[in-house]
Amino acid sequence: MTLSVLAHRDELGLRTGRLYIDGQWDAAGGGATWEHRHPATAEVIGEFPRATAADVDAAVAAARRAFEAGTWSRARAGERIRLLHRYAQLLRDHAEELHRIQALDNSVPLSFGGIYATSVGAAADVFDHHAGWVDKVGGQTLPPYQGGDHLAMTFREPLGVVAAILPWNAPFLLYAQKVAPALAAGCSVVLKPSEFATFSVLRMVELLEEAGLPPGVLNVVTGTGEECGEALITHGDVDKVSFTGSRGVGRRIVEASAGTLKRVSLELGGKSPALVFPDAPDVTLAASTVVGAVTMGLSGQACVANTRALVHRDVYDEFLTAAEAMASAITFGDPFDPGVLASPLINERQLERVLGYIDKGKSEGARLVTGGERLDGELAAGNFVSPTIFADVDNSATIAQEEIFGPVLAVVPFDDEDEAVRLANDTEYGLGAGVFSADAQRAFRVSRALRVGTVGINGFQIEPHAPFGGFKQSGLGREGGQSAFEAYTELKTVMMPLSDEMM
Ligand code: NAD
Repeated sequence: MTLSVLAHRDELGLRTGRLYIDGQWDAAGGGATWEHRHPATAEVIGEFPRATAADVDAAVAAARRAFEAGTWSRARAGERIRLLHRYAQLLRDHAEELHRIQALDNSVPLSFGGIYATSVGAAADVFDHHAGWVDKVGGQTLPPYQGGDHLAMTFREPLGVVAAILPWNAPFLLYAQKVAPALAAGCSVVLKPSEFATFSVLRMVELLEEAGLPPGVLNVVTGTGEECGEALITHGDVDKVSFTGSRGVGRRIVEASAGTLKRVSLELGGKSPALVFPDAPDVTLAASTVVGAVTMGLSGQACVANTRALVHRDVYDEFLTAAEAMASAITFGDPFDPGVLASPLINERQLERVLGYIDKGKSEGARLVTGGERLDGELAAGNFVSPTIFADVDNSATIAQEEIFGPVLAVVPFDDEDEAVRLANDTEYGLGAGVFSADAQRAFRVSRALRVGTVGINGFQIEPHAPFGGFKQSGLGREGGQSAFEAYTELKTVMMPLSDEMM
């Protein structure tokens, strides 16, 4: 039987995506359209406008007008707080519908909806969290250094017009991590979803309109990176680019920001290690956790997945046996089937890329323990790759150094703690790491020695209030928490003498 998701598309009423500019929905835009094909079936789910530079101009102008008008940027704290909480609740009320739309966008299975970090529930919590900063982050009054008595005060002001550019893999959380702090701070936003997960974002924006956000404060341009993404990052009237995606595009954004010295925040890729010590509380559980993160749900298309397992030789065989067992338990197919655990790769380009890395792993001498194949039969039309584990990988090998963004785990043996830390840090990336040890002193010692943004000790969770981001080439800045809110503000200093004496 051939797999089809068209009945779900019709039930959800998807077909045509629209631009959202100045409070108006427009299915035409100025240019061509993008046809979205489902990654599991290659069926056409719908189409949406490929925004042109003129569409981007209109969206940025609307955002600027709204910002200058002050309907949101100067709105009272209580008004912003109430709207953001109202919106968080609307997201929760529509969680099931949104998870279904996501399954049509990127084929993340409904069974994955219960995983907190990528769920609508987490996105709603991010809006609640940032609503909390609106009336809590202020300025300071500083004691004078010189002259007569005077006030030196600081104010946090909204940064202006923000271009928020999203990847396709976790549209709920990543949308929230940008839009929530930007709106909480009083900015206007022009949002560009990924062309591979547009419908989920459009539905979330409809709900934002329903929550009562004034027109022009948030605008959406749909389409490709080359066309509408480039027009956004090179636009002279954008104050900040907030980007989540690949390192290559991150570099391009830094280059393009130079012209007008835009503020830039970047959440990029990773090659995050899991360090499994002989005193891990449960080696089987550690192996299942690591392999689960690299195969379940997003099939390894997750920035922070531990795609390098550094395993002590004393527990190496035990780890590999458990890892292989976990890989064999992963199921594929219709994302609407509750028994399906993992997605296909997002598109054919990514499929070819991942298969290329698997070939590279083999040719560079790593031992293929399991997987390494494209799935066929009923799944032949989709971009499915079996969970793949390579053992005895040299840490300098391509598959241990480059972000593959697929269900491929590289297992590297080590002999002692110093070697484990050295191997873990021997990468250009620095997004996350996992440390598996029952020795609390070792776990903290190693966590402090790792050059990464987030460490999970015997487990990992993304939380709305905990800063998340990368060291080294994994990014610039943090999302989540107070510093994320502040990154959407400018700091202004105002001086005032308290007498006519010269300062
Ligand atoms: P991508 O870089 O290909 O695309 C991301 C977005 O950038 C898309 O909206 C795309 O249309 C747009 N884009 C592409 N070229 C552009 C250009 N020249 N100018 C402006 N915009 C452009 O990434 P992807 O395939 O969507 O996502 C996968 C990548 O995202 C991986 O590297 C992954 O590690 C990273 N990621 C990072 C995090 C994090 O929080 N650090 C989270 C999720 C994904």
